[in-house]
Amino acid sequence: MSTSDSSSPVSRESTRDFRQNATQTLERIFGWPAFRDGQLEVLEALHEHKSALALFPTGGGKSLCYQLYSQLVPTGLTLVVSPLIALMKDQVDDLRSRGISAARIDSSLEWEELRQIKDDIRSGEMRILYVAPERFNNENFRALVEGVEISLFAVDEAHCISQWGHNFRPDYLKLVEFAERLEAKAVLALTATATPSVVEDIQLALKIPQEASIITSAYRPNLFIEVNPQPTKTRTDVLIERLQDQEPGTSIVYVTLQRTAEEVTHELQEAGLPAKVYHAGLKAEERAKVQESWMLGRNRIVVATIAFGMGIDKSDVRYIYHYNLPKSLESYVQEIGRAGRDGEPSRVELLGNGEDVAQLASFTLGDTPADNDLRAFVEFILGEDENFEISTYHLSRSYDIRQLTLGTVLTYMELLGIIKQGTPRYTGYQITPIGGKERILNRVNPAAKAFYQKLFSASKVGYKHINTDMDIAVKETGYDRDKILKSINYLEQNGLAYTKPSGLKKGYKKLEHEFTVDSLTEELIRRFTVREKADLDRLQLVVDFAETQSCKTAYILRYFGDENPSDCGHCAWCVDKNRDFSTAVAAHEGKIEDVLFSEQLAELQTLIEEKPKALGDPRKVTRYLLGISSPATGAARITRNKLFGLLADFGYAEVDAFVKGMG
Ligand code: ADP
Repeated sequence: MSTSDSSSPVSRESTRDFRQNATQTLERIFGWPAFRDGQLEVLEALHEHKSALALFPTGGGKSLCYQLYSQLVPTGLTLVVSPLIALMKDQVDDLRSRGISAARIDSSLEWEELRQIKDDIRSGEMRILYVAPERFNNENFRALVEGVEISLFAVDEAHCISQWGHNFRPDYLKLVEFAERLEAKAVLALTATATPSVVEDIQLALKIPQEASIITSAYRPNLFIEVNPQPTKTRTDVLIERLQDQEPGTSIVYVTLQRTAEEVTHELQEAGLPAKVYHAGLKAEERAKVQESWMLGRNRIVVATIAFGMGIDKSDVRYIYHYNLPKSLESYVQEIGRAGRDGEPSRVELLGNGEDVAQLASFTLGDTPADNDLRAFVEFILGEDENFEISTYHLSRSYDIRQLTLGTVLTYMELLGIIKQGTPRYTGYQITPIGGKERILNRVNPAAKAFYQKLFSASKVGYKHINTDMDIAVKETGYDRDKILKSINYLEQNGLAYTKPSGLKKGYKKLEHEFTVDSLTEELIRRFTVREKADLDRLQLVVDFAETQSCKTAYILRYFGDENPSDCGHCAWCVDKNRDFSTAVAAHEGKIEDVLFSEQLAELQTLIEEKPKALGDPRKVTRYLLGISSPATGAARITRNKLFGLLADFGYAEVDAFVKGMG
């Protein structure tokens, strides 16, 4: 990351030229007559400060900023890091159709395609490359881009960098290091949802000065925000009524659970409405089919979990219903932001009620590891050698901590200076010779032939594939890992074999520190508790937003840093200031004892004794009864038992108290 240029003032002349050039390039390549709000400012910040933050609402035209900048610099690669694979594909196709050499690297690529992309990157032909943040864990990828001129390092969904943000991803913290190591000439952070404190985190992490931070208003004048919390019992009927009464238009209904998505879709279909279901539990082809027919307007209603919508650029969504409360205002704004991108009036309506809160809270509460598991894991890490390797997949099972959460624990340990991650590496490679093993041996020179013979005899040679375990190969051939890796890559580059890495292991180095098992466990518990609280506070703000007796639009704008927004004049409150927005519904009628009878209680006690790993902690029992799975409940095969999720309708606190009282 270079900031040295920012001290040298860019002359007014050069700024004027830059603007003119940018505007002409916009017209020539993208065919747009003018910039949208903030776009030119972002480009100028990149030109002058070599770094920028673009905080535009969804659909505000963030992507254009790096796409255009890539064409304003004479050479170099624009590396776009984005977690949204689907979005990458559409953008790449679009850029290619405009004559810009662009690609994405992900696991779906065919070998031939990947080889071409790699060649284009090495030759400098490639101008824009999209990758997911995890791609940097791949040593081959790192080797590929390390020597390349990176004219811009663009970080999409940059709010994921903030530990206290609503969607922290440990992999994002590492991006900062990569941008520096790659000596990127400019850095751009992009996001649609960031509160002022998250903006600060992004600026700090990526060294973006305040004057290079371009924040446009989140205000969307064509969105009509309706808030009508409905009792659970009649909620579906109200939804059906709305869908039947509205002018036909593309609609999305958001729900929290996959199960709810299925149920609601069924009821809408029964009522004769053209609805389809979409959630992460469906097969990929099924999801693609539903999305496509919705895009084409064949079925105008989709009932979906939040898995739907990321990276979808459909401009004429007219209605969005939140059947359940969203988990944060950040999610809410992102979800309603999918309506009315064409600028035409669109209606978004919140039907969720206070009963949804328990369900949403239990997600957060379920992510926090149990104290005992955390302690055991800390003991394991502190007991490791100075240099050690781990596989989060296996550890996740041994310590019954979700993989994602384990990643967070390890990141915390890094941030506390206890461990440092080295280069993650693959433990093995699968080599698939093209035209047989003999062809390889016949095509290479005699010295290489002897090497490959050694390598193959140190590997497991099957009918189609040759599986090489790197540690064994190093030991048996006497060559170092680097040489072996290069030779495997050589086969691929010369069309002699397909290769595929396997078994990702993360290597760590222990650093000097003062922590004991006790003090570290305590510190980690503290951090998880703080995060848990931040999540629950965000959830509470959703309730406050729903219930506020003030302009709904202004409430959101204030949350995102607008200090003095005026009332919008057309939200639920502005049109009827006396309305009751209470989200409260009658408390759950039954008692736990009415659902969990004494025979079942006995069964639960037995299960707890039989499966100590899955259920040997009150927190785990609570989660189990709420229907929240963990690596150990999966391994113990007890999620089909009728006790699993039996108390899903009760709140976390209530079940927690019950379990603790069981003795
Ligand atoms: P974001 O990434 O902020 O959600 P996109 O970059 O996907 O938004 O842009 C949304 C849409 O707006 C795209 O279809 C894009 O082509 C279009 N767009 C972007 N910039 C302009 C512009 N200056 N003029 C007209 N349309 C634009």
